[in-house]
Amino acid sequence: MSHVFPRHTKSAPPMVARGQGVYLYDTNGKRYFDGSGGAAVSCLGHGDPDVTDAIKTQLDAVAFAHTGFFTSEPAETLADLLIEHAPEGLDRVYLVSGGSEAMEAALKLARQYFLEIGQPARHRVIARRQSYHGNTLGALATGGNMWRREPFAPLMIETTHISPCYAYRGQQEGESEWDYGQRVANELEAEINRLGPETVMAFVAEPVVGATAGAVPPVEGYFKRIREICDAHGVLLILDEVMCGMGRTGTLFACEQDGVVPDIAAIAKGLGAGYQPIGAMLCSRDIYAAIEDGSGFFQHGHTYLGHPVASAAALAVLKKLTQGGLADRARVMGARLQSALEAAFGQHPHIGDIRGRGLFRGLEIVEDRETKRPFAPERAVHKGLKKAAFEAGLICYPMGGTIDGRQGDHVLLAPPFILEDTH
Ligand code: PLP
Repeated sequence: MSHVFPRHTKSAPPMVARGQGVYLYDTNGKRYFDGSGGAAVSCLGHGDPDVTDAIKTQLDAVAFAHTGFFTSEPAETLADLLIEHAPEGLDRVYLVSGGSEAMEAALKLARQYFLEIGQPARHRVIARRQSYHGNTLGALATGGNMWRREPFAPLMIETTHISPCYAYRGQQEGESEWDYGQRVANELEAEINRLGPETVMAFVAEPVVGATAGAVPPVEGYFKRIREICDAHGVLLILDEVMCGMGRTGTLFACEQDGVVPDIAAIAKGLGAGYQPIGAMLCSRDIYAAIEDGSGFFQHGHTYLGHPVASAAALAVLKKLTQGGLADRARVMGARLQSALEAAFGQHPHIGDIRGRGLFRGLEIVEDRETKRPFAPERAVHKGLKKAAFEAGLICYPMGGTIDGRQGDHVLLAPPFILEDTH
């Protein structure tokens, strides 16, 4: 009997033995193609010797030194390289252990920023339905997945949700893509005005929506309008690039393709590529300056901030993404994957949409292609699909989302960037 407390208590997963390239192997020798990089984590694939060497070298030097006493070479170099490649304006990097921690830090930094600049009434967050921002209480509160939030609702910070930018579902007959994007972006302004701009702290969004919607990119112009609205009302823009960042969409930061710079960004997953648990919160010069010139202390932190071994791993990953051209490869291979998916499933009676950016692709599964009607909750296919694929040796990421209050199904694909045509 196992003493591990698993998330799913009614089923026992196989035991993983090793990973090599795009494959994982269990202890029975069965091979699995890692078509979703776990959950969009393993961007380099498994067993990358450059990353494991960087980890070993750092372990031999020093494994851990608390940031209350020391900074470290890998953390400093990683922060420098991230800022060198981040959208202009992002200036400081706060290194944490994962995506939820990065989002938690983002929310607390936003709150503290307004306290520092003398706007203490700003505490409300606006986010979007069909979104996921992590499982810790602050991050969970901002997420729009009602099923995940509901049991913990009494414990949550105040967040309201507006429509996502989800053209397949939301664009109306006769409406251009541009007009659709402006219309849903303008919901933000209406919500800010409804709540009272002086009480709103931040708008939170994933540039390309991952787990709750299946790689849904925004339409052109949407995020530029969102940025304008945030600026007009003094609201901070927090972009959650935990899943879609680090080259996944073909540029290091997904928001580069939308021409916007957030005030705060969260990254994780592909940053450590699964080799170490690491995430980061990046913030603008102005926000950092407010703390530096004010209290001089960010009132938030964890024991494993700036962990040297995790930073060394992430630095090795980031070098491969930037200097090794792997983020570009994600763009090229992503376009090929899209064509291959369209060729294979474009006419399938139950595939309603095939979409995404880079190696971040989603297929939306519907009961009726013409009307886009999803399968009813009791007939949802995502769980069966996950099981069938896994049995056949394919790891993919099927999920249910809520569409107009009803369950919908999609499959997320996020394979390693080392993917070859033969795969
Ligand atoms: N934000 C997004 C967009 C995510 O997809 C996730 C995880 O799936 C998180 C935040 C939370 O990250 P973590 O699971 O590393 O805490």
